[in-house]
Amino acid sequence: MRIGVHISIAGSIDRSVERALKIGCNTFQLFTRNPRGWSFSDIPEDVVRSFKERLSKVDISPVVDHMPYLPNLATPNEEVYKKSVDTLKAELERCSQLGIPYLVTHLGSHLGSGEEKGCQRLVSALNSALETGPKCMILLENTSGQKNSMGTTFEDIRAIMDRLEEPEGVGFCFDTCHAFAGGYDVKTRIGEVLDELDKIIGLERLKVVHLNDSKGDLGSHLDRHEHIGLGKIGEDGFRSILSDKRIRSLPLIMETPVDSRRDDRGNIVKVYELAGLPLPQ
Ligand code: MN
Ligand code: MN
Ligand code: ZN
Repeated sequence: MRIGVHISIAGSIDRSVERALKIGCNTFQLFTRNPRGWSFSDIPEDVVRSFKERLSKVDISPVVDHMPYLPNLATPNEEVYKKSVDTLKAELERCSQLGIPYLVTHLGSHLGSGEEKGCQRLVSALNSALETGPKCMILLENTSGQKNSMGTTFEDIRAIMDRLEEPEGVGFCFDTCHAFAGGYDVKTRIGEVLDELDKIIGLERLKVVHLNDSKGDLGSHLDRHEHIGLGKIGEDGFRSILSDKRIRSLPLIMETPVDSRRDDRGNIVKVYELAGLPLPQ
């Protein structure tokens, strides 16, 4: 199995590889820069080289990039929209430089301008990013369905994909916490949920799973992640999620908390346990 967590790039991007290795990841996610601001600087050539070299020596794949927090690709605000599209293009470029194959993005919020307006914004943002011919695939992540947010249902995500000029440049990232909070019962009906995902989006487009437990109940629309097995999906829920071959064969990346109850290593150990697999040495 491919299991990992979100890894810090503190110090320098290339240092993420050692951190991932140290806690036993064979896949991981990162931000290529501070996710809380708009500004960023270019990645120095020697850091790009070092990142690739360190990765080439270890069994870690794929590395996944996540878009920063501020961009909103569905916003009605002209200025924020433009900055968001520029950020998307810049992240794709950074992925190309670093040899990262996937960029995960949220679909944003229409902020009250309506589903259709939001969809138009998103589609034109994605089309203009895809026009640059990125080497990296954009993965649309399902959301927990907070007010005005885009992309809670498989139908919503499919509708966006259908309007793209180059849909092959876009795939899907399935977040188990967001799905559960969004009303998909991955706790007791993972098989049916994946059948539906296959029917509506297509399993061939599912490239990455965000494996998170949920503090909120089924359909609560709360986006609050919990340690694997300690949330509302629970240990039994994750045992059944992890027993499904369609999930097991994909990169599983946790975005779980780090606190007094457990750290990232603890969640990795828990996933192997619930999957019924020996912990790799
Ligand atoms: Mn996300
Ligand atoms: Mn996620
Ligand atoms: Zn989340």
